[in-house]
This record gives sequence, C-alpha cells and structure tokens, in this order.
Amino acid sequence: MGIATINPATGEVVKTFEALTDAELAEKVALAQETFEQYRETSFEQRSHWLHAAANILDAEKEAFGQVMTLEMGKPLKAAIAEVEKCAMVCRFYADHAAEFLKDVPGQTDASKSFVRYQPLGVVLAVMPWNFPFWQVFRFAAPALMAGNVGLLKHASNVPQSALAIEDILLQAGFPQGAFQTLLIGANKVAPLMEDPRIKAATLTGSEPAGASLAAAAGTQIKKVVLELGGSDPFIVMPSADLEAAVSTAVTARMINNGQSCIAAKRFIVADAIADEFEAKLLAKYKELKVGDPMLPDTDIGPLATPAILQDIVQQVEAIAQEGAKILIGGARPERPGNYYLPTIVTSIPDDSKLGKEEFFGPVALLFRVGDSDAAIRLANGTPFGLGSSAWTNDPAEQERFINEIEAGCVFINSMVKSDPRLPFGGIKRSGFGRELGIQGIQEFVNIKTVWVK
Ligand code: NAP
Repeated sequence: MGIATINPATGEVVKTFEALTDAELAEKVALAQETFEQYRETSFEQRSHWLHAAANILDAEKEAFGQVMTLEMGKPLKAAIAEVEKCAMVCRFYADHAAEFLKDVPGQTDASKSFVRYQPLGVVLAVMPWNFPFWQVFRFAAPALMAGNVGLLKHASNVPQSALAIEDILLQAGFPQGAFQTLLIGANKVAPLMEDPRIKAATLTGSEPAGASLAAAAGTQIKKVVLELGGSDPFIVMPSADLEAAVSTAVTARMINNGQSCIAAKRFIVADAIADEFEAKLLAKYKELKVGDPMLPDTDIGPLATPAILQDIVQQVEAIAQEGAKILIGGARPERPGNYYLPTIVTSIPDDSKLGKEEFFGPVALLFRVGDSDAAIRLANGTPFGLGSSAWTNDPAEQERFINEIEAGCVFINSMVKSDPRLPFGGIKRSGFGRELGIQGIQEFVNIKTVWVK
C-alpha cells in the first residue's frame, strides 16, 4: 500500500493518495526556496503572531484533528485530543520565547564589538513518524518557523490526512504559501532530496534504519541532521520508592499511545525486595485495562498502527518466549478485526536474552529483577539505546547515582519520561543525536554566526 489512510481498528482502506510526481516535487522545493528569501526577512513579532494564530486554530478544532489522528493510527481519541492541545502549547512557547532564545549574545573579547548572531539556515526537511502525527511535526515546525527557516514535511505514509491538515493549519494561520509544505512522497525520495543544494538540513524521527539512511545521505552532502530514533527505556524501581505511585505510573508509561512511543517505559527493572509485590500490583492493573475501539471514551488501548507493527510485536513475543521467558499475561491477539494486541507482561527473562535488549513497540512490558542499584544501572545501560529513563527511589544518594550513571538523554526521578517544550529532548547512543524542544531545539537549525568588529 502506498500513501493511504487505513483504519487500524478495522483494516478498512479509508482513502488513498497519489504521490507527488517528480515535477510536482521540484515545484514545491522551488517554492520553499523562493519563500525563504522573503520569509527570512520577517520579524519575530510577525512570526509569533502567525504561530499564535496556529495555536488558536489547534485549540478550536482539537476534537476534529484528534479524530483524524485516531482514524489514521489508532491512538485513543482522548489522547489524540490531548496531543493537539500540546501542539498548541509548543506553538505558544516558541512564539513567546524565540526572540529571546535567538537574540545576539555579546562576546567577552578585546574587540571593540563582538557577538554571536543566530540566523536561519533555509529549507529544512522533516521526516516524521506516525505515532504522534501532530506533536512530532509541531515540535519541529514551531521552532524552525520562528527561527526564520521554512519546512518541508515528509510524513509517514499512513498519516497523509494528518500531514495535510498540519499544512492547512499553518496556512490558515497566515504563514506564507511555501513556508511549510507537506510532500506526499515515499521514503525512497528522501535520500535524493538531500542532494538538492536548496535543502540545507534535515530532521528525522523514526527507526534506526531510516535514521541511518538519512544520515548517510546528509553526510555525503555535508548537511546537518537531527535524529530522534528508537529507545528501550528502563523504568527502575528501588525498595524506598512509593510503590503504589510507581505501579500506576508504570502502566501509563508503558501503555501510552498503545505502547508505541519512543519514550515509553519498556524495561521494568525492579529490586528483588519488592519485585513480588510490584509484579502482583502491575498484573492487577493490567487486568483492568480496556482494549477496544479507540474512538470510544473509555478505551485505554486501541489497535497498533499498522499490520507490520503488529507482526513485529507478535514475532518478538514469540522469540523471547523461545529464549525461555514467561508470559505472565497477554502474549496474544484478541478475537477481533484490526491490528489489536493484548497488554502483555513478560517475566523470567534470561540474562543472555537478545530480545531483552530490543525495543518492543507495542503494549508489552519486560519485567526484570535485580539485587541492588549496581545491577539496576548495569541492566539499564545494557542496550544499544539511550533515549529516556525513569528511576523510582526516595534515597537521595541513589537518586544522584541514577542521574549520573544512566546513559540516556534524560533521567526522570519518581516520574515518567515526558517531553516538555521548556526542556530539551533527544537521545544518545543508537537513539540518535541533536535535541528538539527547549532553547537547544531552536538552536539546532541556525547558523551560529560569530561577529567581530574592530
Ligand atoms: P520508520 O519506518 O523509520 O518511519 C519514520 C519515517 O521515516 C516515515 O516518514 C517513513 O516514511 C520514513 N522512512 C522510512 N524509511 C526511510 C528511509 N530509508 N529513508 C528516509 N525515510 C525513511 O519508523 P516507524 O517504524 O514508523 O516508527 C517507529 C520508530 O520510530 C520506533 O523505533 C520509535 O522508537 C521511533 N520513534 C522515535 C521517536 C523519538 O523522538 N526518538 C519518536 C517516535 C518514534 P514511510 O512511512 O513512507 O516509510
């Protein structure tokens, strides 16, 4: 299937879309470059006005936009609506702070005047995934547009209506035609696009192979990239933790977005002393989860986004069971059409498990037991990924150790990992490089120009 909306709850092909021809694609790139020449001259005040208007449109039509996302990728509608609200928040954040984040910084030198000036790079290509169809795009678009760049969006092929809706929101908000365009193209067009000298940089959120492919193409062209890739985030629980809070949060942190979040907690690493109690409480909460139609208000878990994601999860759970792990609950598909998979807990994972180091992109929790914090840190760091991490302990010395020793882009103590416009977001190791959000996010796609005046 090419570019299409396919309802993951039913398998119904709702709408198909023609990919852009090469000539249409060339026109859009030309328009982007042309627009940039004018757009770069607009003031922060003007851009801020447009971005506030976009935030207002998002708020006003959050139910409708939420329904588009749920239809296309199956997240519960209440979560989709909350995602639209968060997009409005990131728009307002950068609309209000970009001028301050990008103002000239005086240098401490012996020149009569020296300073750093931040200037836009030009056309930036964003390759985005389907799991947060609005949020992933707005967290790129808001800072990029405020910095004076223009954007081209290659969204995932299964969320074309979300992609087109975002372009429309920004146009309606007043941004010039060409400041932000959606390209309905397949992944095979991305590497050739990077050869176009008008495209100055790119950002990709998605899988490791996609990130590696984009980075290779950008590398040969000497272009800047930001990569936000996969994760297998640890969620560590030590004996001093508030166990009730840890268990409730564990369920939310694993099940968010039907388990398909890069920063979902995926490996639960629990101290032996409390492991039986944690496991029993987690199991009880899993039994309460309601799997069903994502459009219904009381649904906790909807379908996985595509048959391919479902197939990956089915195979991974089979493979880890073959390694000797035990399936405590779930481990199967429910009797219904669509890409559903039951909430699953895997325990007794062998020490040398290969699957135990992989990312499970669905509602599957891997539960590990450890003797002490040394073992917890070793296990937490024992994957190729380094995106997020959450550690639950009320012992200040242990908190400090987790903050210092966990190899990840963030450490959340007694809380689940979340992205927040006010703080940078990104990973290390095979989770990628560069940062989105915060002041760091808006400074990724700018020329940091040094000025010296004698
Ligand atoms: P994916 O296959 O990599 O798709 C993501 C985007 O990349 C889509 O637009 C896709 O287009 C495009 N793409 C695929 N192959 C490409 C290639 N060779 N060159 C250029 N573009 C390519 O990822 P996914 O499987 O849909 O998403 C799940 C993964 O994304 C997970 O690993 C998850 O952890 C990660 N993720 C990370 C973050 C983060 O912030 N770190 C956030 C969300 C998701 P098509 O749809 O046309 O193939």
